[in-house]
Amino acid sequence: MTPASHAGQPVPVLALDHLTRSYGSLTAVDGVSLRLPPGARHAVIGPNGAGKTTLLNLIAGTDRPGRGTIALNGTDVTRASTAKRSRLGIARSFQQPSVIGELTVLDNIVLAGWTHHPKSRGAWRSPSRYRLHTESAARHLETVGLAHLAHRPASELSHGQRRMLDLAAALAGDPRLLLLDEPAAGLTDGDIGRLLAILGALPASVAVVLVEHHVEVVAEVATSVTVLAAGRVLVTGPTAEALAHPEVREAYRNTVPDLVTGSPEARG
Ligand code: ATP
Repeated sequence: MTPASHAGQPVPVLALDHLTRSYGSLTAVDGVSLRLPPGARHAVIGPNGAGKTTLLNLIAGTDRPGRGTIALNGTDVTRASTAKRSRLGIARSFQQPSVIGELTVLDNIVLAGWTHHPKSRGAWRSPSRYRLHTESAARHLETVGLAHLAHRPASELSHGQRRMLDLAAALAGDPRLLLLDEPAAGLTDGDIGRLLAILGALPASVAVVLVEHHVEVVAEVATSVTVLAAGRVLVTGPTAEALAHPEVREAYRNTVPDLVTGSPEARG
């Protein structure tokens, strides 16, 4: 039990109220409400077209809801720009990593850190700030296992390494809420193992919202899960409960009960 829970509920890092987004006659996200405490490890799962990416877009601010509200640490950001949300602590890692191939691996992170920090203006001209950002960027590269490639052009990275670089770039802004869009997509088993280790080592000050099709990654990373179906919340709750929902078991072809009961030999 945290000290804050004695004094009452902590302010949610993320609060969604009746969030709705329609495209013409199709309602992609339909009345989604959700409250996540600071440091949450939350996954959003569901079949193709369930509205998962649209929900992440609404939270990040690249798309706007037709109805409903979004609050970040108690501040209403429903109409806020992506830049403002970034300053307030939202960072996002993409399915298709946004890596600048002509820059070195290290400078990709330096640049990401500068664009996130409010005092970044003019940092190119300040040797002391450059040094600070470079040291911080090097730490983030260490975290994701790319330190040995710091001075290589980012264009030389493999797909898995680009995903790790994108994750390091998201971490460079010291986010309080990290949005991960299918971080395990296209990764080798070895890269997924590394990803799990990185996510497992994130500080409790960073809350994570993860959209992911790999249910074993969800079971490992998330302590709570929202299952979307046709834009609506089918179930939200602790991971084991949500994954045990009959429609979820069906959707994941009965691999889920083995994960929930934790008998790895039964998974194959
Ligand atoms: P997947 O797992 O396949 O990525 P998803 O759960 O992320 O799916 P979304 O990409 O959010 O689902 O899409 C939800 C629905 O909204 C789909 O029917 C999709 O075709 C539709 N949709 C998403 N974006 C748009 C758009 N910009 N214009 C029209 N329809 C859209």
